[in-house]
Amino acid sequence: MSRQQSRDQRKAAFVKLATDLHTPLEEWYDHHPAASFGEIEQEARRLRREFMGQGLAVVINGRDTGFQLEPSACPQCGEPLQFVGYRPWRISGLEGETELERAYYVCRACEGQTLFPPGSEVAVTPRSLE
Ligand SMILES: [Zn+2]
Repeated sequence: MSRQQSRDQRKAAFVKLATDLHTPLEEWYDHHPAASFGEIEQEARRLRREFMGQGLAVVINGRDTGFQLEPSACPQCGEPLQFVGYRPWRISGLEGETELERAYYVCRACEGQTLFPPGSEVAVTPRSLE
């Protein structure tokens, strides 16, 4: 899964996904030479869902995963939160399945109270992606 990337890096990753979409469609057609237009279209739609799901992850994750160089303070005790890692966040969208990732923080002082930093939900909330 991608971390933050420049716009050019995201473009390259997106274009690679599109290129990778072409090969399986060609191979599918090789194995189904008598397929009707509708059948080819159906296979293309299936592949498109994969492409769109991954493509949206490139665009969204490449911009912001909620990671902060200066971690927020724990809302309960005020101690700085510690970055633990990235957690997957799966969204079923109109165009496909997208696995986003969000930076995940804990407060060591509050017995492992876990939370995403405030603000990480503001950038990309499920509601804003609907
Ligand atoms: Zn705390």
